[in-house]
Amino acid sequence: MYLYNSASRKKELFVPNHPDIVKMYTCGPTVYHYAHIGNLRSYIMEDILEKYLRFIGYNVKRVMNITDVGHLTSDADEGEDKMLKGARREHKSVLEIAKFYTDAFFSDCAKLNIKTPDVVEPATNCIDVYIKIITKLMDTGYAYFAGGNVYFDTSKLARYYVFNDFNAEDLDVGVREGVEEDTNKRNKNDFVLWFTKSKFEDQALKWDSPWGVGYPGWHIECSGISMKHLGEDLDIHCGGIDNAFPHHTNEIAQSESYLGHKWCNWWMHVLHLNTTSGKMSKSSGEFLTVSLLEQKGYDPLSYRLFCLQSHYRKSLVFSWENLDNAQTTYQKLIARIAALKPGDGAVDEAAVEALKAKFCAALDNDLNTSLAVTALYDVLKYPTNDETRLFVLGEFDKVLGLSLLEKAAAKREELKKQAVTGTEFAIISESGESDAAVEEQILARQAAKKAKNFAEADRIRDELKAAGIELTDIPHGAKWKRI
Ligand code: AMP
Ligand code: ZN
Repeated sequence: MYLYNSASRKKELFVPNHPDIVKMYTCGPTVYHYAHIGNLRSYIMEDILEKYLRFIGYNVKRVMNITDVGHLTSDADEGEDKMLKGARREHKSVLEIAKFYTDAFFSDCAKLNIKTPDVVEPATNCIDVYIKIITKLMDTGYAYFAGGNVYFDTSKLARYYVFNDFNAEDLDVGVREGVEEDTNKRNKNDFVLWFTKSKFEDQALKWDSPWGVGYPGWHIECSGISMKHLGEDLDIHCGGIDNAFPHHTNEIAQSESYLGHKWCNWWMHVLHLNTTSGKMSKSSGEFLTVSLLEQKGYDPLSYRLFCLQSHYRKSLVFSWENLDNAQTTYQKLIARIAALKPGDGAVDEAAVEALKAKFCAALDNDLNTSLAVTALYDVLKYPTNDETRLFVLGEFDKVLGLSLLEKAAAKREELKKQAVTGTEFAIISESGESDAAVEEQILARQAAKKAKNFAEADRIRDELKAAGIELTDIPHGAKWKRI
């Protein structure tokens, strides 16, 4: 598999460090609010990566943090702890907020078929790990104590900016608009490893440390949690593109200074979901959640399909019209799969291999999910039996996570019930096209059959055949194709 590596800015052949396991780390949510569907785009694409690695035979261990302390309102270690802000907004304790929004996050993930990582670790569980790392960084001169906080000294590194060739001044986090400069820092990009002093004395969660009672910085949490569960090296680290700087840049700085060697080989960054007026973000106040989509009548999996239809390294613009299109596509796809007849023969291995080759070629090319979705339509059109088609769709769905077989089975049941009550008759076009005239004739034939006027029903079938349309009766409907 070729996977783009943000660190080298190239697609590279993916080879894990250890043949028996892929070590994967994902930056998890800061649980001070609901995840918005932009955050969830990142988690959907990371889920696809994990599932595809498993699909092609790797054993994956995936770890994710839950940020429940230390993430300040500015990524440049300025401002208030987001958790505290959330707690105040809702007149609850930080722990209550953390529990509520952690549960809400996993409930949203479940609705989007995002698998829960093998290890999920709240940042507040690993204080001893951060203290161990920071102690060594202090001992080796990579960190310093100033004004009550412990900072990482970025001037000690030969190369600090790993992900981009931007102008260093543009990236100076201490001087961004609206952010006050921290005069304790020796260099503008130095970052806090441990806080004992912040402007907000009411910080709820604090722990004892060699540098005084305080709390960890956000960046050290991901390094510590990763090392706790995955050891001293990492194959893939994922996150949204906004995490590349400063968060991931700082993670690399502190981890490699601590370990004395390279830490992570691949960096996978998902581009943002934007609205027509800019990046979807929690701080802007206006953001969309999975629950809101459901309230508006959307199946969350239509949103998953919407995300899969574009490449993760391109930003994606959300609009209701785009989501409507994805929902229609999803419903049509399910209807076509529902029209397949299970058990109409044995699984044709040669067809399975041919179809899988195309699917894998798409995903092997830096997770081209939109081509992988197209491969679903190849399965429907492939000259083989329905049993094989259903088998292959089930295999592909282990990666795509669209509940294709479950939804199709439910659709079949629904059609069965509607047929009994006489309310609905499914007309499925095998090519996916719609043709009102053909549909009208099929309905007329169905009406004739119901009225036991079989001569008329046969006449309509012959007429369609003469027009190049072949009909097949299916349970509770009919499908048609051009011949
Ligand atoms: P947070 O909960 O803010 O720490 O963010 C959780 C994840 O969502 C991180 O990996 C972010 O990089 C990512 N993220 C934030 N905003 C967006 C967005 N608009 N589109 C896609 N991913 C995002
Ligand atoms: Zn992180």
